[in-house]
Amino acid sequence: MNAVKSVKSVDDLVKAGLAAPADRAALDEIAARYAIALTPAITRLIDRANPDDPIARQFVPDAAELTVAPEERADPIGDHAHSPVEGIVHRYPDRVLLKAVHVCPVYCRFCFRREMVGPQGLGTLDATAMEAAFDYIRNHQEIWEVILTGGDPLVLSPRRLHEIMEALGKIAHVKIVRFHTRVPVVDPEKIDAGLMSALKASGKTVYIALHANHPRELTAEARAACARLVDAGIAMVSQSVLLKGVNDDPDVLAELMKAFVETRVKPYYLHHPDLAPGTGHFRLPIEEGQRIVAALRGRISGLCQPTYILDIPGGHGKAVVSGSTVRTTGDGCYSVSDYRGGEHSYPPAE
Ligand code: SF4
Repeated sequence: MNAVKSVKSVDDLVKAGLAAPADRAALDEIAARYAIALTPAITRLIDRANPDDPIARQFVPDAAELTVAPEERADPIGDHAHSPVEGIVHRYPDRVLLKAVHVCPVYCRFCFRREMVGPQGLGTLDATAMEAAFDYIRNHQEIWEVILTGGDPLVLSPRRLHEIMEALGKIAHVKIVRFHTRVPVVDPEKIDAGLMSALKASGKTVYIALHANHPRELTAEARAACARLVDAGIAMVSQSVLLKGVNDDPDVLAELMKAFVETRVKPYYLHHPDLAPGTGHFRLPIEEGQRIVAALRGRISGLCQPTYILDIPGGHGKAVVSGSTVRTTGDGCYSVSDYRGGEHSYPPAE
């Protein structure tokens, strides 16, 4: 088992039997645009006998990624429009994103920041940029919560995380530090005593939002990693993306949400896929998403229910996909209300 290596290139995919040599030309073209990485834990999970394996679909590149729809965009949720200094996104008054790193242990083929992450992406904040980001947080008393995302912040070394948490610990108005990560699932052994001590170094309340999309991702090892975090006093919530061919089925979603709750991870957000370039093969119509989510009612406990949300393109924030905020205007188009009461077309005009 331990002989399984990380997959980081088209060569590695072919050698691991995850791609056919005949598909090389298309895969090379994809690799020139978007990063590829699968950890050993994910490579082991893939069922090579199943051409529609939901784990492979999330991480193994597909020629469909070369098709970019007119409504797709490099910055689908409008990070750049709300970035006052490098590494900070300040979209809502009381919280900021701190994007310290744009590297991930795996690269999801539907990633909403696929143009920003990976070896060709925005990289890691250097010491000067990090200090400027901390200064921004220090100077904005209204910031109650700092959300470390990226990229996957848990790829940082415990020493680096410790430094970040210590700096945040000294900012009195910051009460909550949240990490968005896939690491407990894709590299569970990384959740060790050193990492957990770093996460707790701020003395603040720490949340981890765990990204997983299929119940098979919640392996015994992943569940044990989550148990270590929760036992250490770190609260956990989930985030998943509703993905065609992965979890667009009430039975699969119900199993996923139950697996989260069994693991002491409270289901939080179920995202409608964003309009990232070359990801149309993952998107389903909003009406279908609503049907699938409605089918969870009554089927699973209230504790297991996620909130189905749409990030409004352009950086206008999240909208709950319900009849009052996301209203059909016909022909697969919608009018979406943002949290300030503004109205936006979805999909947006090109
Ligand atoms: S882990 Fe998150 S940021 Fe990284 S590729 Fe996946 S969706 Fe994108």
